[in-house]
Amino acid sequence: MSNTIIPVSAPNLIVGIIKMKCPACREGSVFTDPNPYHWSRMGSMHEKCSVCGENFRHEPGFYFGAAYVSYGLMVGFLIIVGFLYYFIFQEIGENMLRLLSTGSVAATLVAPVIFRYSRIIYLYIIVRFKGKKHFPEKGRV
Ligand SMILES: [Zn+2]
Repeated sequence: MSNTIIPVSAPNLIVGIIKMKCPACREGSVFTDPNPYHWSRMGSMHEKCSVCGENFRHEPGFYFGAAYVSYGLMVGFLIIVGFLYYFIFQEIGENMLRLLSTGSVAATLVAPVIFRYSRIIYLYIIVRFKGKKHFPEKGRV
């Protein structure tokens, strides 16, 4: 029984993204502050994963690509807001000031969350899950 291999199940991809965990091990936190509405620390990220040592700062300008993810998330969110607006007010385009105000306020309120999730999703696109078995002890931070 000494050669028994115990399979380690990978933490769920979706749960890892929702909890903003490291894409390589899905255990370490990517952001230093879990609350995205603390404005001064909204974009503050760890340099490396505290569990596996994965580098979160690959190169200067690495997160420029996250802007495309952010754009997609915000468009999707505003489409949902538009449907809710139509469901509540039974019109769309008749009162443009109310429509634009609703969209602007909703976009402003959700911007920090979309900012963070765009970075997380971009990291998950670039960095593959490696699991714990690939991490030597010296790689820990
Ligand atoms: Zn990690």
